[in-house]
Amino acid sequence: MTESFTERLARHISVNGPLPLAEFMHWAMSDPAQGYYATRQPIGRDGDFITAPEVSQMFGELLGIWAIAAWQAIGSPAHFNLVEIGPGRGTLMADMLRAAASHPSFMSSANIIFVETSDSLTQTQKETLVGHDTVEWIASLSDLPDRPSIILANELLDVLPVRQYVKTGAAWHERSVGLDTNGKLSWVLGTGRLPDDSLPAGHENEPDGAVFEISPVREAFIRNTATALENNGGVALFTDYGHGKTAIGDTFQAVKNHRPVDPLEMPGAADLTSHVDFEALQNIALSSGMHVFPLMTQGEFLLSLGLLERAGALGRNQSPEIQQRITGEAERLALPGEMGEIFKAFAFSGSAIELTPFPANDC
Ligand code: SAH
Repeated sequence: MTESFTERLARHISVNGPLPLAEFMHWAMSDPAQGYYATRQPIGRDGDFITAPEVSQMFGELLGIWAIAAWQAIGSPAHFNLVEIGPGRGTLMADMLRAAASHPSFMSSANIIFVETSDSLTQTQKETLVGHDTVEWIASLSDLPDRPSIILANELLDVLPVRQYVKTGAAWHERSVGLDTNGKLSWVLGTGRLPDDSLPAGHENEPDGAVFEISPVREAFIRNTATALENNGGVALFTDYGHGKTAIGDTFQAVKNHRPVDPLEMPGAADLTSHVDFEALQNIALSSGMHVFPLMTQGEFLLSLGLLERAGALGRNQSPEIQQRITGEAERLALPGEMGEIFKAFAFSGSAIELTPFPANDC
């Protein structure tokens, strides 16, 4: 009988010792044979979670309008990369391109590029983007052609592995996956320690059991994005859920069928994510020489881009049921209790520009 994913992980841990959470997350999500992305179609109403582009076409349409404004803000270059990292089913890009179709000079200047690591999602993206014959797929931002870029990513950062450290006595010990006395996967404190200077000032006296998260992989993504913009110019926009100020706390979660589950119960079967520390990433972008725009909540961002007007236009002359559905979608995207406040829009550019709808660039 083939070994289950849980058995494989347990065997690895019994030989090599506990796996830090970040490595567990990476493995559970990305194992080519038994990992989450290889074995599931996670996104959508029938999947495990639903993202903003899957909630409503309005999300992608407004981002399409935003991308045109961003392109104009960087001087309307005749050739530029329109890049999406981690495009899921490709819905966001398809909606953006439909909204931008009325702007032929933008469309003819854009080289559409997807950065994706999952073969099965690449296949889905090809099906969604059928008819757009110039789309390219690359595995890493370092393969971007040398042109200015407008780079977008929705709900990418939250899936990238996070490291957790638990305050125990004088030190912060790395939270890891080990084995209990019955050989079952269980949480343990590993040998790793929080790197020096990671903890923001004021948190020296946290109580035992406090959890602090860092994500070197997210930081590397922001650094690589900054390198692309530094070399060839352009703008990046990351929309995701998380906090605007670095904070103490455990935000790691496993979700299956839209419900929280035990992350160690069935590795590879649940989506594993954590909240994004935007302050940490803003600091990385700043130290990489980027011009960082003040963070906006998704609600503010979409309303400033004309969410209500778009909802009104879509609902005009439609049945009350359709109008109600559109109103519901707009509320889901923008209300504070829904996706409006926890989700943020984080943007930076390679040079000092004005970028709608962000407040004046203050850095
Ligand atoms: N943006 C989509 C999908 C979000 S799910 C949406 O909003 O619906 C996360 C996406 O990131 C998936 O497409 C996943 O395959 C991709 N991904 C995960 N790790 C990645 C990496 N290291 N580089 C590029 N894409 C990655």
